[in-house]
Amino acid sequence: MAIIIDGKITSQKVKDEVFSEVKKLTEKGMRKPCLAVVLVGDNEASKIYVRNKKRSCEEVGFISLEYLLPADTNQEELNTLIDSLNSDDTVDGILVQLPLPEGLDEQSVINRISPQKDVDAFHPQNVGRITLGKPSFLPCTPAGVMRLLSEYNIEISGRECVVVGRSNIVGKPMSLLLLSENGTVTVCHSRTYDLAQVTKRADILVVAIGVAKKITADMIKEGAVVIDVGMNRVDGKLCGDVDFESCSKKASYITPVPGGVGPMTIAMLMQNTLTAYKMHINQS
Ligand code: NDP
Repeated sequence: MAIIIDGKITSQKVKDEVFSEVKKLTEKGMRKPCLAVVLVGDNEASKIYVRNKKRSCEEVGFISLEYLLPADTNQEELNTLIDSLNSDDTVDGILVQLPLPEGLDEQSVINRISPQKDVDAFHPQNVGRITLGKPSFLPCTPAGVMRLLSEYNIEISGRECVVVGRSNIVGKPMSLLLLSENGTVTVCHSRTYDLAQVTKRADILVVAIGVAKKITADMIKEGAVVIDVGMNRVDGKLCGDVDFESCSKKASYITPVPGGVGPMTIAMLMQNTLTAYKMHINQS
């Protein structure tokens, strides 16, 4: 039976670290870090994410600003808000909750956020820096996976790492982070000819596809480390992209869903906001 990689405990540890740094800074008379979250429209899942982000900000001692805009907000109005947050010296991080309602151009919104306040690390400048191995911020979900691997002392260097999924927010940056730790990385996607043949090679398998229980025990190697990023609802119940039941009997380590990668994403957002704050106060 695999060791369960506990994202709840590890994410709490990350948040505690952030909290104690903030405490030290505020005790010296410095202002608190501030994260501005922008939500356009009323996507139910997005509302829950925004609420959770606000709660985490309070937990670690940040100021959190919330901008709830109606679904019919136009690009110009959104740009005006982003411009004002970019130039507001009391705001350290800006996060626009995705997806945006139809009619708004996500990439142009991402491009508009100051790279120094882009705590999601989605801006092309930050993506470029990650590619060059000189990141300012690490994208939250892949960074959360890396922290889990290091927390459980899982060696990456030289090992076969397979990432299933190639999205800009998870799969692609995930593969770059594993590569930067000297993993031998293969990326699979929907056109991969024989998925099982590739996943079976993995010492470390990271799955981020959004297909419930797609990875079954026959697709993994005995003793593999299996990281499940997926979040799917089946009959109202949350489950991952990995069939936990069968894979946990064959893997050496595995993340559960819920309670694995999910809680890490917000914790890493807190860490990025603290990083943005430190960069910001060092400049002013
Ligand atoms: P996207 O839909 O943007 O990307 C999915 C990727 O998976 C694509 O690259 C796609 O390939 C690939 N894919 C889809 N079906 C298959 C298949 N049958 N076999 C192989 N590859 C496949 O998703 P995201 O990356 O945004 O998210 C992936 C999952 O992770 C979702 O369940 C999402 O909810 C979850 N998630 C969880 C987070 C967390 O905090 N835990 C944060 C972000 C996402 P192609 O490129 O060829 O289309």
